[in-house]
Amino acid sequence: MVLDSPVVFAYCAVLMAVLGLCMGSFVNCMAWRVTHGESVMHGRSHCTTCGHELGILDLIPVLSWVFSRGRCRYCGEHVSGRYPITELVSGVAYVSVFLVYGLSLETIELCAFCSALLALSLIDLDSLIIPNSIILFCIAVRAAYIVAVGVTGQGDVAMLVRDTLIGGFAVAVPLLLLSLVMDRVLGRDSLGGGDLKLLFVAGLYFGWMQCLFLVLVACIVGLVAGPLLRGRSKPEDADPKSFPFGPAIAIACWICMLAGGPVVSWYLNMFLI
Ligand SMILES: [Zn+2]
Repeated sequence: MVLDSPVVFAYCAVLMAVLGLCMGSFVNCMAWRVTHGESVMHGRSHCTTCGHELGILDLIPVLSWVFSRGRCRYCGEHVSGRYPITELVSGVAYVSVFLVYGLSLETIELCAFCSALLALSLIDLDSLIIPNSIILFCIAVRAAYIVAVGVTGQGDVAMLVRDTLIGGFAVAVPLLLLSLVMDRVLGRDSLGGGDLKLLFVAGLYFGWMQCLFLVLVACIVGLVAGPLLRGRSKPEDADPKSFPFGPAIAIACWICMLAGGPVVSWYLNMFLI
């Protein structure tokens, strides 16, 4: 196995870190454009204050921000620390997935999923919306993974499709029904439509058993982070009691990627002894 060599393993890990950092930079740009109604595909990166087009030196993940001391090189305006933090989180996510899954189709699939989760978290934090385009991207990545498994003969595609679909519907449908009841009881939206769609996607990726663990983790993260986020500025037409639940689900997805399988096995083994 090629990764048995520590040098090759370390080299691959560094490559994944660099790729993750660069994708974090792209995610920053994409999330900002979606939130501000700009085209994702067209137009060059620019300063959000003075509009000056950014050169190659301004686009080096983390380092550009550090060396410019968190300011735009052209207008001197403060640049949010959220940009390098997002890039670092992306780098850590890519390396962590590589450490668990090695050089595999899962690593490609889950790194793409991580980038989508990061993008939707940023957009949800700013606008309390999880765009359908990102949900569809996640579904397309999962479908491409299943096709790749079939083409390379690495697994039973029929079983994978079955588990994927059961995972998606088995958790999302009961949660949809529960949220409809809660909406009636509370007289307002309890769980956003985007959150439900994201939990459906999580079920597609992790199966129904891990998805139950994921919902539990997301609720804990949401309970801890919710009060902190509630005071944030939000769109004028937003419910004052609402807060972005997407980032909590995204964090739970990441934990599930790294430890969902062992946690569910450990839990089931407690009942088998
Ligand atoms: Zn500027």
